[in-house]
Amino acid sequence: VPVLELKNISKSFPGVKALDNVSLTLNKGEVLALMGENGAGKSTLIKIITGVYTPDEGSILLNGQNVSFSNPHEPIHQGINVVHQERNLVPTFTVAENILLERITKKSFSVIDKNQLFKDAQQYIDMVGLNVSPETNVETLSAGQKQLIEIAKALSSNAKIMLLDEPTASISLKEANKLIDTVRELQKQGVSFIYVSHKLEEIFQIASSVTVLRDGKNAGPKSSIKDLNRDSLISMMVGRKEN
Ligand code: ADP
Ligand code: MG
Ligand code: MG
Repeated sequence: VPVLELKNISKSFPGVKALDNVSLTLNKGEVLALMGENGAGKSTLIKIITGVYTPDEGSILLNGQNVSFSNPHEPIHQGINVVHQERNLVPTFTVAENILLERITKKSFSVIDKNQLFKDAQQYIDMVGLNVSPETNVETLSAGQKQLIEIAKALSSNAKIMLLDEPTASISLKEANKLIDTVRELQKQGVSFIYVSHKLEEIFQIASSVTVLRDGKNAGPKSSIKDLNRDSLISMMVGRKEN
């Protein structure tokens, strides 16, 4: 069974049907690219998966079981994490405190063993291939490094599904390549990804399969990346015939 399945999801906002009967499946260890032009409904779909919005219609299945999320904390506890563009980090905290934020917020500061915290954070820093000290203030890091810290933080909460919404939008090419390497490595370990991006080169570099949205609908069935090329993908997104 897929790790995540959305069936016939619809969601309207006043005056706009953002999602109209959209379905999607994500398998273990898959990198599914979610594509579509601006306004196609990608972020709305991500927000439904992360409990920010409740769908008007349709169902969400996790490992074959129906779930419904009424707030953004529930998906996290079920192993679903969204990685934003560096917006979720606490700027005055160290790398370690950010990665293990959940542990810190459960206790008072006085009972946190800092040495243990740094030691535990190091394993997640290593998993995302970063070369920074856990004691570093997170504010001093580059955008790309912060993005990887977000992924490390998700790993520390045992994320099985990661949603990346335009993860390379504000980082350098070198850092984007590092992020892509990390995604590949985690994919081998069985983590599943939904990867929202407009960058076609990146999609061909990283995705196993593609789901395209157009005007809030599935533009076609999910396709294996092997069966697509640049032109066919663009045609699916903009809805005109090839050639
Ligand atoms: P994408 O991420 O693919 O660019 P979105 O999911 O952000 O698309 O938006 C899909 C449609 O829903 C757009 O027409 C957008 O204007 C509309 N929309 C998204 N969020 C809201 C909202 N909170 N209120 C009203 N309209 C919204
Ligand atoms: Mg948009
Ligand atoms: Mg969007």
